[in-house]
Amino acid sequence: MQPNVIILLGPPGAGKGTQAVHISEQYDLPQISTGNLFRENLRQNTPIGQKAKAYMDKGELAPDEIVVEMLFNRIQKDDCQNGYILDGFPRTIPQAEALDRRIGDEAHIVAISIEVPDEMIVERLSGRLVCEECGTPFHRTNLPPKKEGICDRCGGHLVQRADDSEKVVRDRLTVYHTQTEPLKGYYEKQEKLVLVNGAVNKEKTVAEIDQTLEKFFR
Ligand code: AMP
Repeated sequence: MQPNVIILLGPPGAGKGTQAVHISEQYDLPQISTGNLFRENLRQNTPIGQKAKAYMDKGELAPDEIVVEMLFNRIQKDDCQNGYILDGFPRTIPQAEALDRRIGDEAHIVAISIEVPDEMIVERLSGRLVCEECGTPFHRTNLPPKKEGICDRCGGHLVQRADDSEKVVRDRLTVYHTQTEPLKGYYEKQEKLVLVNGAVNKEKTVAEIDQTLEKFFR
């Protein structure tokens, strides 16, 4: 059977992670976030974590070779046989080419780009707080926790990601526009690109993505 590969594109803070959780539950496919894989490697202080740290702190992309190797190790696991959701990969044309060389002939692929204007991203991310324990996101003004600094879900401690400060967010947006956004053209040429509106409430974006995926899985 052909694995179904759903690629989520879009700037940082577009809601790729939130949408990936939803798609993962709906279609029973694993969510693979290279950002989360890197943060896990950082916590465990592995060689990959050590190599990626300086790039992540500055909001720059880690080198393609490291990301591609880490991703390929992950997608060869048994739970990826029927397919998977890529959240935050590919982020450059060489990463997309490496993925195509690896799975392009055998996989059924769709690339969904979640579109959100820059100013909305800055507002969303510079107010974002995440639980250190379970990763649940909150927002200082749009989605405050019931008790300041404490996760509603697990009681963990809420922190601002170091790369969510306004300065680093603006740098990450520049990186997105120069290095990642050209992927839209790459997938458009292959007739695999779908754009969805991420500047509306979460439920509307979910509905647009559901429509796209109904066609994809038909
Ligand atoms: P994210 O959580 O997806 O925003 O990723 C956090 C950071 O991890 C990014 O700012 C990059 O430094 C690094 N990273 C994650 N995915 C990639 C990727 N596909 N290519 C290069 N760097 C990445």
